[in-house]
Amino acid sequence: MRIVVKVGTSTLAHKTGNLNIRRVEQLCKVLSDLKNSGHEIILVSSGAIGMGVGKLCLSSRPDDIPGKQAAAAVGQCELMYTYDKLFSEYNHTVAQILIVGLDIENEIRNQNFKNTLFRLLELGVLPIVNENDTVSTAEIEIGDNDTLSAIVAVNVQADLLILLSDIDGLYTADPRSNENAELICEVCDITPEIYALAGGKGSTLGTGGMSTKIKAAEMANSNGIDMVIANGNAPAILYDIVEGKNVGTKFLADRK
Ligand code: GLU
Repeated sequence: MRIVVKVGTSTLAHKTGNLNIRRVEQLCKVLSDLKNSGHEIILVSSGAIGMGVGKLCLSSRPDDIPGKQAAAAVGQCELMYTYDKLFSEYNHTVAQILIVGLDIENEIRNQNFKNTLFRLLELGVLPIVNENDTVSTAEIEIGDNDTLSAIVAVNVQADLLILLSDIDGLYTADPRSNENAELICEVCDITPEIYALAGGKGSTLGTGGMSTKIKAAEMANSNGIDMVIANGNAPAILYDIVEGKNVGTKFLADRK
């Protein structure tokens, strides 16, 4: 299978913004193993801004654009240094791809993006994609990595998109405030009711929330790609997802 895995800042970093070393080590180990077993993996990784916040010892995520851009410039280095180091331990080569909305909207740039991705896959490389936050502003941004991961999945014609988050999946109510909330295992049709369940923003370090995940599901599903939202706190969950076990929330693709 060709699998796009998206990891959010809340999975990669502690609340301080510093790297969650144990988590990231597990993630790289599992992804390397899945690759060894024959799957093609593309990682969409957030964490540039969050990690920049940690490395620059800022008290919180900056609100202004130059602040975010500077934090991302610092954090993206840290992020790729870490991935390169950890994946190298398992003999895998990584590549960094940073894009903005323009790279998708413009046909020639989009084709170049795809050419690079496909060639990297042919070369057996593990591409790691993020938004190019250092030059991205409101007019040209994709905005969040849930959307970015769906765009990547569609562009590489993935078989499966997995979003790892700090929550087990989509619930019937907000599980942080409602103890009767139940996990929804499968979504076949993304209705306004499903959007209504999504609520607001999730963590303080990342950008997305449940509603951007539902939008990502809609984009993936309408292009024939299944999507799973699962908890990234134990990355070995990826084995279960790939084996088709019932974990997280699975959004089933339109198979018309
Ligand atoms: N591109 C942002 C970063 O790497 C994250 C965007 C998101 O969390 O959706 O920090």
